Amino acid sequence: MVTLNDYAPIVGPEVIGQLQRLAERLKDRRFVHINSTRTGGGVAEILSRAVPLLNQMGLTTTWEVIQGDPTFFEVTKAFHNALQGHEVRLSPAQLQHYEEVNRENARKFTWEADYVLVHDPQPAFLIKVMRERARHWVWRCHIDVSRPNLKVWKYLREIVSRYDASIFSMAQFAQNLPHPQYLIRPSIDPLSEKNREITPEEIDQVLNRLGIERDRPLVLQVSRFDSFKDPVGVIQAFRMVRKHVPCKLILAGGEATDDPEGPRIFAEVMEAAEGEPDIQVLLLPPDAHHEVNALQRAADIIVQKSTREGFGLTVTEAMWKGKPVIGGAVGGIVLQIRDYHTGFLVHSPEGCAFRIRYLLHRPEMAQRMGRLAREFVRQHFLITRNIRDYLTLLTLAENPGSRTIEL
Ligand code: UDP
Repeated sequence: MVTLNDYAPIVGPEVIGQLQRLAERLKDRRFVHINSTRTGGGVAEILSRAVPLLNQMGLTTTWEVIQGDPTFFEVTKAFHNALQGHEVRLSPAQLQHYEEVNRENARKFTWEADYVLVHDPQPAFLIKVMRERARHWVWRCHIDVSRPNLKVWKYLREIVSRYDASIFSMAQFAQNLPHPQYLIRPSIDPLSEKNREITPEEIDQVLNRLGIERDRPLVLQVSRFDSFKDPVGVIQAFRMVRKHVPCKLILAGGEATDDPEGPRIFAEVMEAAEGEPDIQVLLLPPDAHHEVNALQRAADIIVQKSTREGFGLTVTEAMWKGKPVIGGAVGGIVLQIRDYHTGFLVHSPEGCAFRIRYLLHRPEMAQRMGRLAREFVRQHFLITRNIRDYLTLLTLAENPGSRTIEL
């Protein structure tokens, strides 16, 4: 089992000491996280690593998952799409179903807590039914809400307003809400199966198993099959590059149990990739962390051509592996990619194609960017910093009205 001290060689012993001091004051507090899936997507990725660590640090931390039927997840995916700016229509019956599923879950939940962190809209309604079960409720939004569909946000805002605080990933996502809003960047765990150091032999084994030959430079995008990740745009960019430079594209993706749109987008991707033998589309199971690790390390260039992005852990993961990332200039990606330094920001398939060619022709520059990218992640986007932020937030909540709090 990974312990807090195992992070000391990566982040330095002072950081570990600081975390221990913060946690000491929050000992035995009951801290509950609620989201809508245990596998697939960035939220599950973070919780699977943060919850055990918080427990080790003395907070009694649990992770609850809201259950729902397919109709529920269609409604919540529509919320997600609307918050990221799509025009969607939701009928009163659909909203009623969303509320009813939350009520059913509330009847089954037995937890009581000091602090609850509710992730994203799926379980947000629980506060209306379970308010008295916890002292302090915080809503954690992982979505790119820079330009939400206002009708849907109006409905959700009425629910979110009941929380004691909310957390967004960047300032551009903050909303008009009647409570404190905190800005906390997500993070990756450098010691997880997805990010730990692995040997060249382990990488080769995975590539052999997946039938990937390394006879040409590899361009990779890892993402759920979701329209905001723009996999079809990546294929368009790749086709432009392929005309001039020999290379291969791997699109690796899996499904998340709370995302019903995956199969439709996967079909679109297969159609767009048809007739191009240098594109390989991999449908991975949700626990393929070792495979994703190996693919990211094997790639020469990593792309994350999203058109909306709450944060984009795939960008962080790639940067940590010393890769230059070409990312859509949206949402949390712009916090991570410093254009021309840690990677490139692009606005179109053409821009993406241009930057792929540019880097394929300049391997030393790609390496230099990768080194800077890794260091940038070490300083800003590792799990220790994320846990420090959460503990700081709880410390503030422990001292309501205090004019000074010594951290
Ligand atoms: N992921 C994975 N397998 C896949 C696709 C994605 O393990 O086939 C992981 C990916 O490595 C990352 C997370 O799922 O850790 C996706 O997080 P991100 O913030 O990039 O996007 P989200 O899916 O949350 O929108």
